[in-house]
Amino acid sequence: MKKKENPATDGSVRVRYAPSPTGVLHIGNAQSALFNYLFAKHYNGTWVLRIEDTDIARNVPGGEKSQMDNLRWLGMEWDEGPDKPNPKYAPYHQQERVKIYHKYIQQLLDKGLAYKDYTTEEELQQMREKQKANGESPKYDGHWFNASEEQIKEAEEKGIKPTIRLHLPENTLIEWDDLIKGHIEFNTDNLGGDFVIEKSNGMATYNFAVVIDDYLMDITHVLRGDDHIANTPKQIAVYQALGFKQPRFGHISLVYSTKTHKKLSKRDKNTKQFIHQYRAAGYLPEAVFNFTAFLGWSPVGEREIYSREELIENYDINRMSASPAFFDQKKLDWINATYIKKFSVDELYKRIGYMIDAQESDEAKEIADKGIMNDDGFVKSIIKIYQNESTTLMDIMKNMMKYYDITNYDLSYNDFDNFDNETSKKILDSLKSELQSYDGDVHLSSDDVTAMLKKIQKELGCGAREFFMTLNITFTGSQSAPQISDIMSLIRVKDLIKLIDKAEKVL
Ligand code: GLU
Repeated sequence: MKKKENPATDGSVRVRYAPSPTGVLHIGNAQSALFNYLFAKHYNGTWVLRIEDTDIARNVPGGEKSQMDNLRWLGMEWDEGPDKPNPKYAPYHQQERVKIYHKYIQQLLDKGLAYKDYTTEEELQQMREKQKANGESPKYDGHWFNASEEQIKEAEEKGIKPTIRLHLPENTLIEWDDLIKGHIEFNTDNLGGDFVIEKSNGMATYNFAVVIDDYLMDITHVLRGDDHIANTPKQIAVYQALGFKQPRFGHISLVYSTKTHKKLSKRDKNTKQFIHQYRAAGYLPEAVFNFTAFLGWSPVGEREIYSREELIENYDINRMSASPAFFDQKKLDWINATYIKKFSVDELYKRIGYMIDAQESDEAKEIADKGIMNDDGFVKSIIKIYQNESTTLMDIMKNMMKYYDITNYDLSYNDFDNFDNETSKKILDSLKSELQSYDGDVHLSSDDVTAMLKKIQKELGCGAREFFMTLNITFTGSQSAPQISDIMSLIRVKDLIKLIDKAEKVL
């Protein structure tokens, strides 16, 4: 059973998102960040960004910047972090906190709660192999705990660089009431033995550094992915050894793939799962934020479209789900399309402008090269026409490119096969002769086009279906299109005539 948690709203809540800069911002990272953000904002607390960069070999260039840029793109601004230090808690990079870790490690060494371990890599390997052969799970046997002065001297003389391990009490229960998963307990005998808190290169390990940081940064609630559950008993052992008050822990259910029913794998190339990919593909940050908030949490009721403010207001840690969250691309698409419908044309024009400036896709580059955004009347017309049927801003951008250059666009005329071509031809002939009375360089208004089409349809007396499909195919290359008079008003008269000629060749 989960115990209800009602954190104080007096500003004392402090939570953190603590990425390792080993990669760019992933949907799973965004999920952790977001629930910490919502938690902090809902309870008037502070949201801290800390960079856990102790695993130097795994850090990737640009990893930290990607984390920060993409959090900001999602509209999540931290209250404290490397670029906004609170002097009481800084620094916020673990690499800059090495001295602090040493101080506490020394305390544990002095108390005999931690010890130097001179086991070599080969010896560790042998130990593991032997255990494996005996059908035992791997466990450090603790044989350097209580080593004699002589043994230590001998190892030092050999030049072996020791690690430092925390000594675990034997057969002791470590337990906590998880805010999301309920009661969890481990026996210290099942934690793989005394574990390393400082590597031989002098760097504290994650399981040690994280405790010191969370303690010194006054973190009240640790919310992180449930892949960390096995680390938590080790961290609690550190809290206990140092006599620190421990925070509350909540382990967020990870995101699973609807296709494989397994944890979303960063190697799965079929699923877009990095935030910069959504950004480049024309998803709105509001939509991705809304979607992510439902990965492992839901408010009361059926509604699924929530603004950031509404999510902050309605967020309740007690409604986090203990079972996996499934990544449903269709739902993300639906949410994104819903936001595109809701936004004003001017706002969408601005958002597309950001994408063109960022040039994160070939389409954005091409639109920038051709200067299409400068024709804002044209772009806004396209937005108005396609806003209600676009899943992403990219869909709108593709139509911008298509109609900007429509006479060179490779329209498909295959659909004419399903038609009575004679009637189509008649329709196009009449339209062409009407159009020839205009200056070729002008655009007709949508109303003028509508009037012209009505007149032709009446004169020819043909059915609406055939009439409009002929026009749809001729000017858009597909049977179904939004309001054709709107589309035709985007195209200069001379280009409308060119397209008619092109279509008639096929007919
Ligand atoms: N640095 C860890 C990670 O990226 C976060 C651990 C934590 O939140 O305690 O998975």
